[in-house]
Amino acid sequence: MSKQQVEKKVHRPPIETGCPDSFQYMHPVMRRNYGQWAYHEDPRPGVLKHVAHSGDAIWTVRVGTQRILDVITLNLLCDIGDKYADGYVRFTIRSNIEYMVDQESKVGPLIVELEKNGFVVGGTKNSVAMIAHTQGWLHCDIPGTDAAGVVKAMMDEVIDEFKGWNMPNRVHMTTSCCQINCGGQGDIAINVQYTKPPKINHDLVSNVCERPSVVARCPVAAIRPAMVNGKPSLEVDEKKCICCGACYPPCPPMQINDAEHSKLSVWVGGNHSNARGKPTFQKLVAAGIPNNPPRWPEATAIVKKILRAYRDDAKDWERISDWVERIGWPRFFELTGLPFTKFHINNWKGARNSLNASTHIRF
Ligand code: SF4
Ligand code: SF4
Repeated sequence: MSKQQVEKKVHRPPIETGCPDSFQYMHPVMRRNYGQWAYHEDPRPGVLKHVAHSGDAIWTVRVGTQRILDVITLNLLCDIGDKYADGYVRFTIRSNIEYMVDQESKVGPLIVELEKNGFVVGGTKNSVAMIAHTQGWLHCDIPGTDAAGVVKAMMDEVIDEFKGWNMPNRVHMTTSCCQINCGGQGDIAINVQYTKPPKINHDLVSNVCERPSVVARCPVAAIRPAMVNGKPSLEVDEKKCICCGACYPPCPPMQINDAEHSKLSVWVGGNHSNARGKPTFQKLVAAGIPNNPPRWPEATAIVKKILRAYRDDAKDWERISDWVERIGWPRFFELTGLPFTKFHINNWKGARNSLNASTHIRF
């Protein structure tokens, strides 16, 4: 083999910086039966029992957290896991912490200890699951609200619905702290809503922004390059602008967040497809809600109204989208007592494709 061939065969090993292999952290019963589960049961709220084909069983206790966890609380949760569970925990995408135990007799004492320390067990089956949310002001550069704070304030108010099985079916809620990025589909979604076009700081644009990228970001072609005070900058056609905020991430001088005009909105009925139905888009049901920290009482009151109406009127196993589909949107607004306003009408000029433009009446 020539020297050149030998050199070709020696590659630099890849530098892995991703997540570590999760198997090493799994409970041994889970490791042993990976991919071999036969069925699961719900023995009580907040507890799942999974049974493997081998006959092994494992119990999972799900605990809600306040999402932004300090080190002292994390240590406490881990100490409880060491003492009352088998020393294994995992976090779910909804910021719950889950303990796994291999004997049913360990479940009761674990729950007693968790509740004694102020933690809440629940979030399974037909409950209101913990609200899924984005990183918010802790990590991101564009939030218009503190999504983690919204979640904490709202979950405090629906704690009984988290702990119990008193909903017709599972309720998944989501939040987002800007209008365009993470967050997303939920039975109920609480999202930031911008209500005015961005305000441009022309002195900074040429130093901070790549103007072609910013122009390209706008979904309605409302941004144009412009010279302002002798400096290259941008201008926004405010008649076209739909106040989406997409120009703000690549160009922070296009400030769109502010205390007065960044509002919250509530959307309902988003769902992924499942065995019974195709995916459904969520629809706006409340707009212009004050973004009012630290408890967001106006948004929370609306979410509670929707949950109450759904709980009282939906049939067993109907998700919120199934319920609204059956009763219709006019009845939804009647039952929830939410006003139907001009903001619910899609009046964007590109909406002609999605509007009912035929003479057929739809039921
Ligand atoms: S929703 Fe928007 S502001 Fe919040 S973390 Fe995601 S990208 Fe950032
Ligand atoms: S807010 Fe959205 S629509 Fe308005 S200028 Fe920026 S990207 Fe375009």
